[in-house]
Amino acid sequence: MGGGYSRRMSSSPADLVREFHRAFGLDARSTPAQVPPELAAHRGELLAEEAAEVAEVSVTGPLDKLAHELADVVYVAYGTALVHGIDLDAVIAEIHRSNMTKLGPDGQVARRADGKVLKGEHYQAPDVAGVLRRQGWLPAED
Ligand SMILES: [Mg+2]
Repeated sequence: MGGGYSRRMSSSPADLVREFHRAFGLDARSTPAQVPPELAAHRGELLAEEAAEVAEVSVTGPLDKLAHELADVVYVAYGTALVHGIDLDAVIAEIHRSNMTKLGPDGQVARRADGKVLKGEHYQAPDVAGVLRRQGWLPAED
């Protein structure tokens, strides 16, 4: 193992966060799996803390603080995915695929009065379980 921080070709959050977890001896899994409940709870708390920090500065700013806390949320979310062995990039791609089906073939977007994009008749829900199965997830039998 080489020492110290090295610049990378990729700046994908998944790669950066994997580097962080390796450097600090934090949990990391390569296949989706259940983790000990204390670890799962700890990860949930870390994410809730960062989400609360975003909420604190969302309206009042300053903008650099908002940017910092948004990045913390993403960083911790990627770390939590890594701890659970989830390839989060693949899940995000599936969420995006689904979101784009909210656009009809005619290019029309249905919106609610407050601007939220609504699901049209061509909408396809994301298949997150399918994505995790392709990553090697073996869901518990009923
Ligand atoms: Mg923070």
